[in-house]
Amino acid sequence: MSDQPTPMMAQYLAIRDANPGALLFYRMGDFYEMFFDDAVAAAAALDIALTKRGTHQGQPIPMCGVPVHAAESYLLTLIRKGFRVAIAEQMEDPAEAKKRGSKSVVARDVVRLVTPGTLTEESLLEARRHNFLAAFAQVRDQAALAWVDISTGAFQVMDCPLSRLAPELARLAPRELLAVENAGLDDLAADAGAALTDLPAGAFDSASGARRLCALYGVETLDGFGNFSRAELAAMGAIVDYLDMTQKGRLPLMRPPLRENAGGAMQIDAATRRNLELTQALSGGREGSLLTAIDRTVTAAGARLLERRISAPSRDLALIHARQEAVSLLVDDARLSADLRAALGHVPDMDRALSRLALDRGGPRDLAAIRAGLTQGAGIATRMPADATRVLARAARDLTGHDELIDLLDDALVAEPPLLARDGGFVAPEYDEDLDQTRRLRDEGRGVIASMQADYAAKSGVQSLKIRHNNVLGYFIETTTTHADRMRAMSDIFIHRQTTANQIRFTTVELSELETRILNARDRALQIERNIFARLRDAVLDRAAQIGQAARALAEIDLAAAFADIATGEGWTRPRVDDSRAFQIEGGRHPVVERALKRKSESFVANDCDLTAGDTPAIWLLTGPNMAGKSTFLRQNALIAVLAQAGAFVPARHAHIGMVSQLFSRVGAADDLARGRSTFMVEMVETAAILNQADDHALVILDEIGRGTATWDGLSIAWAVMEHLHAVNRCRALFATHYHEMTALTAKLDGVENATVAVREWDGDVIFLHEVRKGAADRSYGVQVARLAGLPASVVDRAREVLDALESGEREGAARPAALIDDLPLFRAVPPAPAPSKAKDGPLDARMKDVHPDAMSPREALDLIYELKALT
Ligand code: ADP
Repeated sequence: MSDQPTPMMAQYLAIRDANPGALLFYRMGDFYEMFFDDAVAAAAALDIALTKRGTHQGQPIPMCGVPVHAAESYLLTLIRKGFRVAIAEQMEDPAEAKKRGSKSVVARDVVRLVTPGTLTEESLLEARRHNFLAAFAQVRDQAALAWVDISTGAFQVMDCPLSRLAPELARLAPRELLAVENAGLDDLAADAGAALTDLPAGAFDSASGARRLCALYGVETLDGFGNFSRAELAAMGAIVDYLDMTQKGRLPLMRPPLRENAGGAMQIDAATRRNLELTQALSGGREGSLLTAIDRTVTAAGARLLERRISAPSRDLALIHARQEAVSLLVDDARLSADLRAALGHVPDMDRALSRLALDRGGPRDLAAIRAGLTQGAGIATRMPADATRVLARAARDLTGHDELIDLLDDALVAEPPLLARDGGFVAPEYDEDLDQTRRLRDEGRGVIASMQADYAAKSGVQSLKIRHNNVLGYFIETTTTHADRMRAMSDIFIHRQTTANQIRFTTVELSELETRILNARDRALQIERNIFARLRDAVLDRAAQIGQAARALAEIDLAAAFADIATGEGWTRPRVDDSRAFQIEGGRHPVVERALKRKSESFVANDCDLTAGDTPAIWLLTGPNMAGKSTFLRQNALIAVLAQAGAFVPARHAHIGMVSQLFSRVGAADDLARGRSTFMVEMVETAAILNQADDHALVILDEIGRGTATWDGLSIAWAVMEHLHAVNRCRALFATHYHEMTALTAKLDGVENATVAVREWDGDVIFLHEVRKGAADRSYGVQVARLAGLPASVVDRAREVLDALESGEREGAARPAALIDDLPLFRAVPPAPAPSKAKDGPLDARMKDVHPDAMSPREALDLIYELKALT
C-alpha cells in the first residue's frame, strides 16, 4: 500500500512530531536529511537543491540534505534566519539494525535542539561577544529576569518588573528569550533582537524551579547562593529546564547563580543605548560604536568583559575606584603593562573550552586550551608586583595554584593536539606505558609490511609488486594485470581478491593475520586514548570553578591593561568619581568622532562642560547652527560618564563626575518607520519616559527635542520639557535646540545656562570652529549651511530675504510671527494670493496639496524644494 509510510518514514514522522517547532536534521549516513515542509523551508533558506525521495500518501516527498562534515555552517545560517534545529543521530551501528532483520530501521533519536541561545560551537559563536539565553518570569506581583551564557557558564538573575524589562534586554542583548506562552512579549523581544521562545506555564513553576536548581548544583537548599524570590526561582528554573530539554539531559557547566542588584549599575534604557551607540552603531554594525573605538583588549574574554562594563557601568564607588587603581598602576608601569599584554596574547578562550568539555562536545584541543591558559596565567601571576592593587592582586591569586593540573595536562598531551578525540594521536609519548606499547605494535606492523613486500617480490619475481591499503579491501598485494599468470601460478601463496582494468589484487594468509594484528593494535590504542581523554576531562571539570575564576582573572587583567593602553596612547586621564552631583569636564573629547577625524588627519576640538549641580539643578542650553558640533558635544559628555563608571580613564584633560544613576539620551524625530509609529509620537513617548523617571542623580541629554513637529508646537514642547527637568527632575542635563527663543529661559530659571558652538562668518560662508562657549548663538546659520549643502543660489538668496524679513519683523515686535509668514509669498515666482479657483490650475498649488510637512524627513523636504523649483 502506497499510503503506508515505509518503516524509516514512520520513524522520521514520529521523531518530527515529538519535536514541534524545529527543523529536523535526520541523520542518514554522511548526511543530515530533511523532508516535507522542513525540506522546502531549509532548501530556500540555505539555497540548496530540493529533490524528492519516495512518496507519502501518494505524493512525492520533498527532500534536501547537508553533509555532516559541513553541517555547522548550514546550522549557523538557519539559526541566523530564526530557525531552531533538532538533530537526530543514528543511535546504533547500521550493522546492528540489519541483524534484527532486513526491514529493521537504524535507531535514531534527537540528541540536541539547536537554538539561538544554546550554541556552544566555536564556529557558531562570536568570540568577542556573549551569547545569552534569558528567561522572564512573573509570579503574582513579582517578576524576574535570569540569563546564562552557556558557552561560558555565567548565570545571573535579577528582580525585574515588566517596566524594566525593555532596558535590561537592551543591555544584555540576549539571543533568545524564554517566556510563558501568550506573555505578550513579542515586540519587546523583537526590539532587543532576541528570538522569543514560548514555554508552557509548567516550565516556570517556582517550586519545581527550586528543585531543578538544587539538583543541578547537588545541594539540599539554595540558601548558600542567596535568597531568591519566587519569580527569580521560576526564571532560573525555566532556564535549567530548557537547557535540559535542548541538550537532551546533558547540562552545561553552570556557575552558581549570581544575583544582580538593580541599583548596582547605571541605568541606561534602550533608546539611550541606541543614540549613544554604546555597543552598536546606528547603522547596525559594531563599527562606529564606542565599544569598537576603545577596544584594545587582546583576548576574547577581555572583549566580552569590556562589553559588559560598557553596557552596565557601575554605581559602586568602591568598585569603580578599585578598577581605576588597577588602570593607574598599569599606566604608570608601561613595561609591566606591555609584558602582560604580550603574555595575554597567547591566552586561549578557557571559558568556552571548559563549557564544551562539560557538554561533552569538547576535544583534545579544548584540554590544550585549558593548559595554555593556566600556564600563561601562572606566568602572568608571577609578573604581578607584590603591591599590586586590589583588583590585580586578587586576579594574581586566582591565577595561582593550578600547577597540578598544568603538570598533568603537560605530561599527557602532545604540543598541538588535533580537534577531535575520535582519531587519537593527542596523548604524548611516555605518558601511558600501555599506550606506548600498543602504538609500537601498530607501527611495527607497518614496518613488517615493507619487508613482506620485498619478500613477495622476490618470491614471485615481480619486482613491481606492491602492498597497498584501502578501506574496502584492507591490506592487499597488487601487481599489473601483465603479471596475472605468474601470480596465479603461485595460488598456494597468493589468494586472488579482485581484478580491475589494469591491476590484479591478492592477499595471503600471512598478510591477513598481520592486518588483524595492526588493526587490533590501532583500535586498542584508540580505546586507551579515549579513556585517557575522559580522565583528563574529568580532572579539568573537577576544577571547573577554579578554572572559571582564572579565566575571569585574565579577562580582568586584559581589560585593565587595555584601558591603560588607550589612556596612554590617547592621552586620557583618570576621572575623579564621587557621590556628589558634580559634572565637570575640561578638554573633553568624543572618542569615536575623534578617531574618525584622525583617519582624515583632522583634529578634534576639545571642549569643557560644567553641569555641577548644587541646590539647583544644572542645565546647559546649547544653541548653534546645524553641523556645528552640538550632537557631538552632548554625546561626548555622556560617553565620558559611561567610561568613568566603567572603571576606565576618560578622553578629557580633567574630569570630576558625581555618580550618575541613570543616563538618558534622546534625539528629536529619529526615523522609526520600521515600527510604523509616527516619528514625533516616538519622540514624545521617549521624552515622557525621561520626565517620569529621571532622578536627581540622572544625566539627561536632549538633542533637538520637539523637532518632529511644527515650529510653534515644537518650541512649546521643548520649553515645557526644559521647565519640568528643572523643577521636577532637578537633574544635570544638556539640551541642544535650534529654537533661539529658548535662550530666554536662562533669565527665568536658576542653574540654566546658555552655551553655543562657535562659528565664524567669512565672506558669507560659515566656518565651524567646534568650540563650545558660554552664551547664546546670535543668529541661525541654517541658510549658509544650506548653501554649503549645494542648494541652488536662487533658493539661498530667497531664503536670506525671508530670514531678514522675519528677523526685522521680530525686532519690530510682530505680534504673531505666523501672521508675518502669511504675508510672505512662498516664492516670488508664485502669483500673489491666487484665487482658490485658479489655484487648482497652478502646478505649484496642485503639487503642494499632497505635501504634509509633518510627515516629511529633511531629505524629502529638500527633494521637494528641487521639485518646486523645477515647476517655476
Ligand atoms: P550638530 O549636532 O550641531 O548638527 P554634529 O555634532 O553632528 O553637529 O557635528 C557635525 C560634524 O562636525 C561632526 O561629524 C564632526 O565631523 C564635526 N565635529 C563636531 N564636533 C567637533 C569637534 N569638537 N572637533 C572637530 N570636529 C567636530
